[in-house]
Amino acid sequence: VDSFRSSKLSYADRRKVILVIFVIVAVIYIVRLFQIQVIDESYKISAANSSLRNLTVYPARGLIYDRNGKLMVYNEVIYDLMVTPNQVRVLDTAAICTLLEMQPSDVKERIEKARVWSPYRPSVFEKQISKAEFARIQEQLFKFPGFYVQARTQRYYPYQIAPHTFGYIGEVNQSDLDRDGYYRPGDYIGISGIERAYEKELRGQKGMRKVWVDKFNNEIGRVAEGKYDTSAVAGLDLYTTIDLDLQRYGEELLQNKSGSIVAIEPATGEILALVSHPGYDPNLLVGRVRTKNYGMLQQDPNKPLYNRALQARYPPGSTFKMVNALIGQQLGVLTAQTTYPCAMGFHFGGLTVGCHAHPSPLDLSQSIQHSCNAYYCRAFRAIIDANGSKPAREGFEEWRRQVLSFGFGQALESDIPNQSSGNIPTAAYYDRYHGKNRWKSITIISLSIGQGEITATPLQLANFAATIANRGFYVVPHVGKALGRKDSLLQKYTIHHNTSVNRSYYDLVVDAMENVVIAGTGRVARIDSISVCGKTGTAQNPHGEDHSIFIAFAPKDNPKIAIAVVVENAGFGATWAAPIASLMIEKYLRREITAPNRLDLEKRMKEVRLSP
Ligand SMILES: [Zn+2]
Repeated sequence: VDSFRSSKLSYADRRKVILVIFVIVAVIYIVRLFQIQVIDESYKISAANSSLRNLTVYPARGLIYDRNGKLMVYNEVIYDLMVTPNQVRVLDTAAICTLLEMQPSDVKERIEKARVWSPYRPSVFEKQISKAEFARIQEQLFKFPGFYVQARTQRYYPYQIAPHTFGYIGEVNQSDLDRDGYYRPGDYIGISGIERAYEKELRGQKGMRKVWVDKFNNEIGRVAEGKYDTSAVAGLDLYTTIDLDLQRYGEELLQNKSGSIVAIEPATGEILALVSHPGYDPNLLVGRVRTKNYGMLQQDPNKPLYNRALQARYPPGSTFKMVNALIGQQLGVLTAQTTYPCAMGFHFGGLTVGCHAHPSPLDLSQSIQHSCNAYYCRAFRAIIDANGSKPAREGFEEWRRQVLSFGFGQALESDIPNQSSGNIPTAAYYDRYHGKNRWKSITIISLSIGQGEITATPLQLANFAATIANRGFYVVPHVGKALGRKDSLLQKYTIHHNTSVNRSYYDLVVDAMENVVIAGTGRVARIDSISVCGKTGTAQNPHGEDHSIFIAFAPKDNPKIAIAVVVENAGFGATWAAPIASLMIEKYLRREITAPNRLDLEKRMKEVRLSP
């Protein structure tokens, strides 16, 4: 402070000096700007030797997590080789062919194809170059004006699971381009599964950088200091309802078999596991190898691309008896006390629907416990003919209306695309088949035990199990839980779809399903100290061994999981589908299987080979 005071300059002088310095700096700055923008020819010269390039900045696609925040799908950087046809100069054909490992005709064809799209705008010359290839090409690329490399990302699946549910990404086609102005040729889009259902949220927003590049392809500056650039906005991360561990476990249990497993949290409709086997490693449908691998999977006689969980239609067999038990109660033709006899089946005129040995007569609850065919033949006739003298058609229409209220016969439209609707036949169908009003309840008696024209998908069967678990309603099964953050929950699927059957009629069915597992046809599904309610089924298969079906939920009170398991060519439902369902339930509720007898069961399920 003292030395400052001893300075010879007064305060006013010092102020002048500072002002002068400011003015000088400002003048220099303005002059330099003038030189750059108006006088300096070197800028014009360099502009002649350079060109403007619009670089698309691809946003990172949103990641996909499981319900517990475990990462299931992420992105890896890959590179596209781009070409701007009118910038391609004196092409050393041999050299570029060597560099890209291509035939000269191929190189020429690709440039011409790009020219058709636009001679001035860059388009993709070679897609999805790996990191190793990128390093090799990048070193040489300065020799080839008109070419440059652009980074983008592609999917990577650390666990080779749930290929059908994730779906895959591919290049946009013409109809995508026509439908949505966001896309440019060569862009990528979700084609199936989650990638398709959440395309808009996952894709984010592309950005743009305008840059000058010299004739050697080196970026030499930004246009207008980035004034016209837009930055990319990353896609939103998707938190799914899938339980990664349960999904993996289900895929292991179905190995060496064909079939599916659908597990749902009943109260919310959240899908915990969606297994279709055989499947494939989702990494096969990523990048340049996608087309080739897709063709290979299409040729595979085991149909790994076919999503059985959503698309396969099976006669639901005895699992459908509960639908008739519920509708019969609602219509007042069945009560807890309704008994019917069974003499190894139902006999009417020359018609016999066989049954197995069990006590007789049975009441409604026992009819479920022992899965009696004769009981349901008689119960179904009572349902259809409830109106007495009126034609069967009217009773049938009422029955059908109620069946549809359980979600059968329709796709359960949600964020899982490509569902089959299954089939609940119409009166018109029987009119065509038998003649108008020339059919009766006895004509369509197979519907009583879930056979004949009725078909359902594994998803619909799991939804049915969830409906019983909820005592009368379902929430549309779905896989999206939250977007962006784990706690920003999607509220898309919250509606309770009530069935036509009053809540009070469910208790008898639930108790009976518990008895199925305690002392009925599904004993193999028992788990110590967990109350499992279940029902076996067998889907007739005209092409070979029957399909084994089991639907279940647990615990009985306040259920946490409802499940449907279908194992193809496996015979009776209790043999394979029931143990697999019970292992899945235990895995979900306890997180691990520890009892020696259960581990033994697990081993047997994994090891068995059931071929078509
Ligand atoms: Zn029977």
